[in-house]
Amino acid sequence: MSQTLEGLSYSALEAVLSRAGVNPVHAHPLFSAVQRQLLRGDLSQAAGILPPVQRWLGSSDAIPVCHMKSVDETPSADGFTRKYLLELCDGTEVESVQMGFPGRFTACLSSQVGCAMGCVFCATGQMGFSRNLTAGEIVAQAHHVERELRRTNPGERLRNIVMMGMGEPLHNFEPVMEALEILTDNRGLNIGPARVAVSTVGYVPGIEKLARHPKRYSLAVSLHGASDEERGKLVPLNKRWPLDVLLEACREYTAIKRARVFFAWTLIRGVNDSDDHARRLADLLKGMDAHVNLIPLNPTEGFDGGPPDEARVRAFQQIIQDAGLPSTVRQRRGIDVNAGCGQLKAKRRPKGVAELEV
Ligand code: SF4
Repeated sequence: MSQTLEGLSYSALEAVLSRAGVNPVHAHPLFSAVQRQLLRGDLSQAAGILPPVQRWLGSSDAIPVCHMKSVDETPSADGFTRKYLLELCDGTEVESVQMGFPGRFTACLSSQVGCAMGCVFCATGQMGFSRNLTAGEIVAQAHHVERELRRTNPGERLRNIVMMGMGEPLHNFEPVMEALEILTDNRGLNIGPARVAVSTVGYVPGIEKLARHPKRYSLAVSLHGASDEERGKLVPLNKRWPLDVLLEACREYTAIKRARVFFAWTLIRGVNDSDDHARRLADLLKGMDAHVNLIPLNPTEGFDGGPPDEARVRAFQQIIQDAGLPSTVRQRRGIDVNAGCGQLKAKRRPKGVAELEV
């Protein structure tokens, strides 16, 4: 995929201008026009853009802005979630989700078209892998959510980014890190690095690289099983990097970054929601700086499983809490529009036909 201005960090933009014979001091107004004002039309008319940059923008060397198109937008019934279907310049589609309420808006971004990891309960995994997204395509998703926020909630802005949409972010490491570098730049959207979470299903080489990355983002690791046999049935990647290898990488991450790891446990009725599972989970993470997010399963077409009832969820949580393991039960938001965890799957709907009444 070709380069776009959204995908250029400040230093990359300076280098591009320099190579084109433009003094890099001109990077600031151009970066601000793209990354802070989120302009997409004729940038040569933006504030502070001077003739040298205007000439470059009009030349055949210029790098264009991303032409990601919004195909569909679905708000959830409770108003806390809004799912966007976005078309990329090659015609493929990804989904991004805006979640939250005034003062705490979060964008959940996709990192790949589809996913190669094949987790059995996940709609994205069920669609297979098409391609990696570029840094520009990841940043452009955040821009779309921010633009919509500015339009619908004047005065609000994005506070948090979670790389938990379609794809395994650590399987597309460099573009994801470049995108986060841009989104956390204080000359752009200025999202605090501590407010960025990168999720993985256990792609160990990526965890090792993230531990050595200069920025400290939150790491969220999907676990779902406390033995290799149980986890392997839900997460095929476990065969490549079994639990002892995964947890060693997580321990190394906490040691290097001095940060806790957030473990996600999707609760599936009758599969991994018993008292025994809870005790074994607590044993597995004993002594680690860990926090568990419990996520009652969100339904998908391709997986014949359901969430436990609330009493079972609370009983599970009580056991790990009594064992000293902090946890949160993830609020089930956006389920009615398939915008919950594991439900994202780019699918264009016939015009005018609602997926669900909301
Ligand atoms: S849960 Fe994440 S890693 Fe697993 S298939 Fe779905 S998108 Fe990929």
